[in-house]
Amino acid sequence: MPRDPYEVLGVPRDADETQIKKAFRKLARELHPDNNDAPDAEDKFKETAQAYEILGDAERRATFDRYGHDGLRGGGFQSQTEGFGSFSDLFSAFFGDQGGGGGPAQGEDLLVRLDLSLEQTVKGGEVSLSFDGIVGCGTCDGSGAKPGTDTKRCTKCGGAGELRAVARTPFGQVVRAVACDQCSGRGVTIETPCPECRGEGRVVENRDVTLDIPLSIAHGQRIRMRGEGHAGEAGAPSGDLYIQVSVKPHPVFTRDGDHLVAVAPIAAPFAALGTTLEIDGFDGPIPVEVQPGAQPGEEVRIQGLGMPRGRGDRGELRVVLDVVVPRRLDDRQRELLEAFADSLEDRNLKTPGGIGERLRRLAGKRR
Ligand SMILES: [Zn+2]
Ligand SMILES: [Zn+2]
Repeated sequence: MPRDPYEVLGVPRDADETQIKKAFRKLARELHPDNNDAPDAEDKFKETAQAYEILGDAERRATFDRYGHDGLRGGGFQSQTEGFGSFSDLFSAFFGDQGGGGGPAQGEDLLVRLDLSLEQTVKGGEVSLSFDGIVGCGTCDGSGAKPGTDTKRCTKCGGAGELRAVARTPFGQVVRAVACDQCSGRGVTIETPCPECRGEGRVVENRDVTLDIPLSIAHGQRIRMRGEGHAGEAGAPSGDLYIQVSVKPHPVFTRDGDHLVAVAPIAAPFAALGTTLEIDGFDGPIPVEVQPGAQPGEEVRIQGLGMPRGRGDRGELRVVLDVVVPRRLDDRQRELLEAFADSLEDRNLKTPGGIGERLRRLAGKRR
């Protein structure tokens, strides 16, 4: 059994026509597929539309008030919300065409992929993209007619480029403007089509676009360039160009938000003694100061060598120390190490921040 339509629209039982219309429009706006991508938005919109079909019609409303949903069904009422191809079609049926009415169609959006290195996202700079797109035909200037030949005013639309179509909707009759099918919204018919575009006014062409790489742009982000998509029909506005950014993995650095992370192997004796390591940076080696007694997994943080975050500021470079214990010792090395091992005392082995302490801290947090 469907819900009570007054409840669905959230209006009192004595609501007047204006109140009902307002409530419906408000709910519908919220549920519009462009504003709402919740999976149940379509079902909710259908329910809302069905409620409006009843309350927006005086006769149906009176029937419902007296006999409820059973009364409507008995009277042969059938909701018009079923049988639409898509949610958007359903919306168009209620509100008229949302796509801007008649006239030549606007150009489609275009999606291209841009591969960047991590270094490019740190340093920025210009990059050019090459792709196939639909552009206005240069030979006929987008008119579709062979240069120097005549065009005639369209007989079907009288040159307006659009036709008026009347649609029945729950709001009553709605006049929708649709592009004229005889002239594709141009308003003129072509006698001799342009040989280059065969009368289309548009051709597919290889295009180049140059853009400034936004600093710190991340893998998976999209850049939108307004009006750089496919050209529209007969001079209608172009679509937008979307650039899907893909950042290639770097052999040394991994990005972590504002920071760059690198792993540096260090032999256990050097970790014990302290040393200066070098890792390969974008502009040559970066010295990394390791304090005596560094432990496995410890981080050395270097300010200002991470990702740019505006106004010349940058995050940190975090170098994680991977302490390597020497293996395959020869006799001399074993002797030295045995002597060293014999010399060890408790104070040498206390490891603040070591694995044991970290485990205890983790366990403490869980408790
Ligand atoms: Zn042409
Ligand atoms: Zn026409």
